[in-house]
Amino acid sequence: MEQIRNDWSIEEIKLLYHEPLLELVYKAATVHRTWHSSSAVQVCTLLSIKTGGCTEDCAYCGQAARYHTNITVKALMDKEEVLSIAARAKASGSSRFCMAAAWREVRDNKDFERVLEMVKGINALGLEVCCTLGMLTETQAERLQAAGLYAYNHNLDSSERYYDEIISTRIYGDRLNTLNNVRKAGISVCCGGIIGLGETHEDRIGMLHTLSNLPQHPESVPINALARVPGTPLQDLTKVDVWDMVRMIAVARILMPKAMVRLSAGRSEMSTTEQAWCFMAGANSIFTSESEELLVTPNPKLDEDRAMFELLGLTPLSNK
Ligand code: SF4
Repeated sequence: MEQIRNDWSIEEIKLLYHEPLLELVYKAATVHRTWHSSSAVQVCTLLSIKTGGCTEDCAYCGQAARYHTNITVKALMDKEEVLSIAARAKASGSSRFCMAAAWREVRDNKDFERVLEMVKGINALGLEVCCTLGMLTETQAERLQAAGLYAYNHNLDSSERYYDEIISTRIYGDRLNTLNNVRKAGISVCCGGIIGLGETHEDRIGMLHTLSNLPQHPESVPINALARVPGTPLQDLTKVDVWDMVRMIAVARILMPKAMVRLSAGRSEMSTTEQAWCFMAGANSIFTSESEELLVTPNPKLDEDRAMFELLGLTPLSNK
């Protein structure tokens, strides 16, 4: 079995990234089969527990208060409502439940206390529980860990070089700092990015370089295609080419063999054939939601995903 490496050079990643596509997919599929079952795909349910009204200015995000999108702002949900959605998600095959709140950062207030109670409740259901709540201090990460948080999502979004072009209200170092706090608290790290933000191939390579050279690879790497939300500064960008997604997934799979590589935003604009290519390239997880939305953008129906699993011979990774 090949070694896990944290010393990938930009040149090595560039060579991989620019390999002829079929050769790249073949290599990634081989790595995938060395470390994972080729048929097990983890189904993660994502729930927006607090929607919109965010003070940050991420250019891709429909939840930023400053953009004129038609998102309905919703306050933090009740714990009982979240727990009943989590129980239904488990019954329909999810083994991981991710709660997202549109916050710049976690504040030490009653909302955070409520989130901690949600984490405890979902953990008790036997689901891997993940949160994405913005920036975290070391103490907040420790409190989440003590409540039973399994994973924390905090994406790098793009390369360090391109970051300032899409967000001005925080810096790349802030992201890395939160990731460090999460890791120190003993929480599993979920960290990936988005393509289609107007970045170059070099930026994509740069992001993969940062991820694959972290002292410990993220256990989970979501790869998202930009969902062009009307009213955001990126609304008129070109739709991401599916082959770009396949390429990113394949390189991520080769660089970070043990990670769960998650085919995330963008599935609603992909056919089953296109998603099959992503699974062949090493993706082994998808997101679903009862509301058929991935936070505030469209996501396939649960029935469509069931039919796709049956057609492709995939099985949901079983609950722990
Ligand atoms: S991506 Fe997150 S931090 Fe950025 S505006 Fe949206 S909700 Fe806020």
